[in-house]
Formats: sequence, structure tokens, C-alpha cells
Amino acid sequence: MEKLKERIQQIKKKRPGYGEMLEFYQKVKEAQQGIKTSLKIRPLKLKKEWKELLAKEGFSLIQKEDFPLNIEASIKLFGTLLQIGKDVNPHMTEQVRKIEETIEDKRIDLKILLNKGIKEQKIEEVADELKLDKVFLSFLIQSSIKPSIEAGREQLLSEFNPETWLKGYCPVCGSLPHLSLLREEVGKRYLVCSFCGYQWRIDRLFCPFCNNKEQESLQYFYGEGEQAYRIDLCDKCHQYIKTIDLRPLGESDPSLEDLATFHLDILASQKGYQRPVPNPWTT
Ligand SMILES: [Zn+2]
Ligand SMILES: [Zn+2]
Repeated sequence: MEKLKERIQQIKKKRPGYGEMLEFYQKVKEAQQGIKTSLKIRPLKLKKEWKELLAKEGFSLIQKEDFPLNIEASIKLFGTLLQIGKDVNPHMTEQVRKIEETIEDKRIDLKILLNKGIKEQKIEEVADELKLDKVFLSFLIQSSIKPSIEAGREQLLSEFNPETWLKGYCPVCGSLPHLSLLREEVGKRYLVCSFCGYQWRIDRLFCPFCNNKEQESLQYFYGEGEQAYRIDLCDKCHQYIKTIDLRPLGESDPSLEDLATFHLDILASQKGYQRPVPNPWTT
């Protein structure tokens, strides 16, 4: 947490425009960290034969909805996040007020909602019905269940490590990546799962969204004076992924670096490319 705070201060100095979101990010992380120590989830075990079969067939270990959630802890965290969100900006203040109202008059049952949180489409339905901002609602739900999801992921990986996966989707839960990373001296490339946060090794020239490996249709650009951040564009599917080079940055938090380089997403979108998994902090 100390390292994260230090990095947030550094970024704030360099890009004061991100100040408000950076402060929000820090508070959310602190709240998530706060419930981690006491978090207990139902044990998640897979049979050895099953794991081998999954790896061989290219299926992920489990599906998103198979993650056990600690609902009490998630409800508590949801409440804390509402309090934090209240003071960030007028839009969030208004959204928090609306959400609190729907909880009070029982139009939302948090227990059910958090369980649905795993299915993006369900959240959209609820948001439409209650006239809430779906991006913000989904963000709150995902952030509230995240400690449980990460605990589940760790359990699975303590007995299985999919080192030779090399696919565009997560070996643990099958979700798409939201970022790619370069690390170690030679710049090995990894993808980061947008749902469970697992990081897996991948070829350097590869579009995870359409499996394109052809050099001619894969290009990239950097932000001005920002060699640590790269946007990898694919001319086959017209989508992109942001790549963060952790070598100059040290082991920084990828989601934080992502949030603080939203200007690159704007550039990519101006060039006509789409991001399959948008940055949840800035949309
Ligand atoms: Zn995953
Ligand atoms: Zn592609």
C-alpha cells in the first residue's frame, strides 16, 4: 500500500488532471485491502485429471460464476465504496444518492445484485430498470466482489500453474485481458485478466482478441515522452490493448498505470480503434 501511495503522488505531480481519480483509486484500494485480512471464501478445488484435461483442451479452469463470493464482506465493502464515491464529483454524489435510495426502499437487494455482479449483462438490466449509471453500478459491484475473486484465483493457482497457456483469454476464468505487460530484462509479454487479475505469458506479437500474429497488421504507438506506455493496435479486428512496460516503472500496479494514461485511450479511439474491455475507472 505504501508503494502504491508513493506512485500515486508521483503521477499526481506529473499529471495533476488525474488527481481526483487517483485519490478515488487510492481510497478504493485501501478499502479492498482492509477487508482482505478477514476474508474467508468457500474452498475451491479441482480434481487433478480435470485440470489436466482443461489445460489440454484449452478451456479455462473455471467460469466467472463459479467463483465463491463472501457476500457479507462484499456488502460491507459496497457500503464503504458508496461512502467514498459520495465526495468524488457531482455525478458520483448523485449516483450514490440514487443507489442508497433504491436500497432503502428495497428495489435493490444487495445480496442478489452482488451475486449477479459476475454477469455484466444482468447489471445492465438492473441499471436500466432503476435508471442508474450502468458503468458506475458495475464498477461498484465489481470492486466489491474483487477481494473474493482474487482469493479464489489464489486458491486455484496454489495447485495449478498454467505456464504454457499462450492464449488470448484467461486460463483461470476465461475472461478477456484488459492490459498487457512487459517485464524482466528481455521484456517478456504478459496479459492481465480483466476479471480475476491473473497474468499469463504470451507471444510478443499477438492480438489477444482475434489471435492475429502477422507483423504487417500489428502496429503500436507510444504517448509523447512516455516510453513505458504503448498502445498495441490490430488492423485485422481494429481493436487495441494497452501495454505497460514495467521495466522502467518497477512492479507498479497495472490498473493504476492504466487509469493514469487515459489520454492514450482517447488517442487510440480517435484513430478508430476500440478497446474490448474499457478502463473501468475512466468510463
Ligand atoms: Zn481470469
Ligand atoms: Zn485483432
